[in-house]
Amino acid sequence: MQVTLIQVPASKEQRLTAAIAVALMLCVALYVWPCSTVQATAESPFMPIFATSVTIAEGLTGFLLWTQYRVSGRIVFAALACAYAFTAVAAAFHLAVYPGVFAPSGLFEAGRQTAIWIWLLWRSGYAVLTALALGTRKWPPIQRIEQRRLRGGSMIALSIGLSLVLSLAAIAARDRLPNLVSSTPSYRHLSANPIVLSVWAICLASLLIHVFVTRVRTLMDLWLAVALLAGFIDVTLTLGSGARYSLGWYAARIASMVSANAVLGMLMSETSRTYQRLADAHRALKELSVRDGLTGVFNRAYFDERYPRELALANANGNPFSLLLVDVDHFKNYNDAFGHLAGDECLRRIAQALNGALSRQTDFVARYGGEEFVVVLPGCDPEASLAIAERMRRAIAEMELPAIRANAHHVTVSIGHASNRFHPRAPPAALLASADAALYDAKARGRNRVANNREEELKDSFDRRQVAAR
Ligand code: GH3
Ligand code: MG
Ligand code: MG
Repeated sequence: MQVTLIQVPASKEQRLTAAIAVALMLCVALYVWPCSTVQATAESPFMPIFATSVTIAEGLTGFLLWTQYRVSGRIVFAALACAYAFTAVAAAFHLAVYPGVFAPSGLFEAGRQTAIWIWLLWRSGYAVLTALALGTRKWPPIQRIEQRRLRGGSMIALSIGLSLVLSLAAIAARDRLPNLVSSTPSYRHLSANPIVLSVWAICLASLLIHVFVTRVRTLMDLWLAVALLAGFIDVTLTLGSGARYSLGWYAARIASMVSANAVLGMLMSETSRTYQRLADAHRALKELSVRDGLTGVFNRAYFDERYPRELALANANGNPFSLLLVDVDHFKNYNDAFGHLAGDECLRRIAQALNGALSRQTDFVARYGGEEFVVVLPGCDPEASLAIAERMRRAIAEMELPAIRANAHHVTVSIGHASNRFHPRAPPAALLASADAALYDAKARGRNRVANNREEELKDSFDRRQVAAR
């Protein structure tokens, strides 16, 4: 079964990172609290930068949660994506109507307190929607893709629509909404206003419910808890800040940034980790697909693909190239005497011995089929490759695997050798046929030997074959 982020337990490192983030945030909040009403300079670029980054972060989080939903079909991700989509829209409106960002008193002929109303909408909407998402945690995944798209799409459209309507309503009803701030844009009365206090209580309740229900066990729960706590700190500090651009107000905006980025950071780090895991799995799968299941050396498909390339390269560069065809002697008898399982083990050990005789990165052994192997030796001249072939033959004979024929006490192999030095510019099939003819020659001359493909010997072998065929 597919494991989603809502099930991945938070690791020790993640818990520590979250604990450090929370500790830092609480330290800053407690440090600032006594002097939160102290007025600081109004840095005019701060608000546009802050609000833009928060809007983008909330939007991106919503999108990544939506991706999680599309992959897993779990409604909880769609519900959380709704919370972030709602927030992103509200944050964008907040930026637009904020006095002094796009216009001295905000866009859309916003009133004195429109930004505050939209901010309350943003904070309470996020708290309520994340709490509602908790109810969908245990819902089983939606299996059918069309149903997934329809259900999730309508949820997102609904939350974006709701945020749009409520934000526009806050703008339209600028003169009818209850007064939250005094005539000088001051936040002094905010902390006594029941509407604002209810938003504060909703944020606190959402945090407590989240911690109580989830016990903050998983990665997702952990960073959602950090986001909810940061949102609560934002509201608390804003209520105590007295006015815009006070120390408390600046600290609240920083908490708001933490709230917007907590889940995003986790999703981004998990996404990059997933890519890493995917790349590793792909590499392992690719490696597995070119290996022979029984012996572990390369398989026939790999040989068929790589051998012609290597030979063409060697021919083009005028480099030597050698090929060995290895066949186990009287292997049928071995199977008959010891059984196929012992035969398999014997093939494994022979493959190991062949591999063990190679030293260069570019050389490789592949299982050609049955009890036959092929050894590819790019850049190897005939003298060297004949020496390697002889080393292989001896290594296998010296393993002393018992054989049953009276005249052969141990398992042996015959090896056919071919080199492009004797067949300049030969195509792959011709060189392979040459090694095959040499192998036939080795068998005909008594087995347990290496035969090469020098022209005159090949001719002999060919003539002998013709005679045998007749
Ligand atoms: P020769 O010396 O002429 O090569 O005789 P041979 O018995 O080795 O040749 P033959 O082609 O008659 O038999 C090959 C045998 O290899 C028959 C088959 O059962 C065995 N064989 C092929 N693939 C496998 C395998 O994967 N496992 C086992 N155990 N045996 C295999
Ligand atoms: Mg054979
Ligand atoms: Mg054989």
